[in-house]
Amino acid sequence: MAQRNLILLGPPGAGKGTQAQRLASRFGVPQISTGDMLREARRAGTELGQRVAAVMDAGGLVSDDLVIALVEERLGRADARDGAILDGFPRTIKQAEALDGLVAKMGRDPVRVVAIEVPRAALVERLSGRRSCPKCGATYHLDFTPPRSPGVCDACGSALVQRADDTAEAISRRQDVYERDTAPLIEYYAERGALRKVSGVGPLEEVLDRVTRSLEA
Ligand code: AMP
Repeated sequence: MAQRNLILLGPPGAGKGTQAQRLASRFGVPQISTGDMLREARRAGTELGQRVAAVMDAGGLVSDDLVIALVEERLGRADARDGAILDGFPRTIKQAEALDGLVAKMGRDPVRVVAIEVPRAALVERLSGRRSCPKCGATYHLDFTPPRSPGVCDACGSALVQRADDTAEAISRRQDVYERDTAPLIEYYAERGALRKVSGVGPLEEVLDRVTRSLEA
């Protein structure tokens, strides 16, 4: 079977993580989220986690070399043999070039890229209402997809948390960083014929259908 190597691109709040989770279970391949991996390192209190904490909370990007090494290690694990859904990586041209090199070196099928487009005005509302479960990773939105009982994860009963970088100041910084460092990847992948674009506006099941249909086209 052909591998499914997919990148979800889009600004913070576009719904990459939510869609990646669903696509991963639909396709039977892992979701690889560098943001989740870094947050996990912080929770575990590793040296790496401590090193990246301040940059993450301020909404900046951690170093290319560091995330490239994380992804290389993760893609090499057995569960990623049939493919992976990458979410939040690559975020710079340097990371995209490194990924091209890795894919070639590992003899994997070429990556396909879906850009999820959401108008900037809608993103702040999405991010500021976002809550997540630190234990199982389930995500919610206070207005759009609230948990059944306030503040409690439907799936595992843990107390929900707000991400430290979902504050107004960090959100605005992350949007600027996205425009400057990550948006150029849309052109990068379009030039290589690897890019599909879908609207990320609307119920998440509809967006999921758009993403899967874009991959069939
Ligand atoms: P995310 O969960 O994808 O929004 O990532 C949260 C934060 O982790 C980002 O704001 C960055 O500080 C850091 N991060 C995640 N992925 C990357 C990446 N590919 N390159 C650099 N920094 C990253």
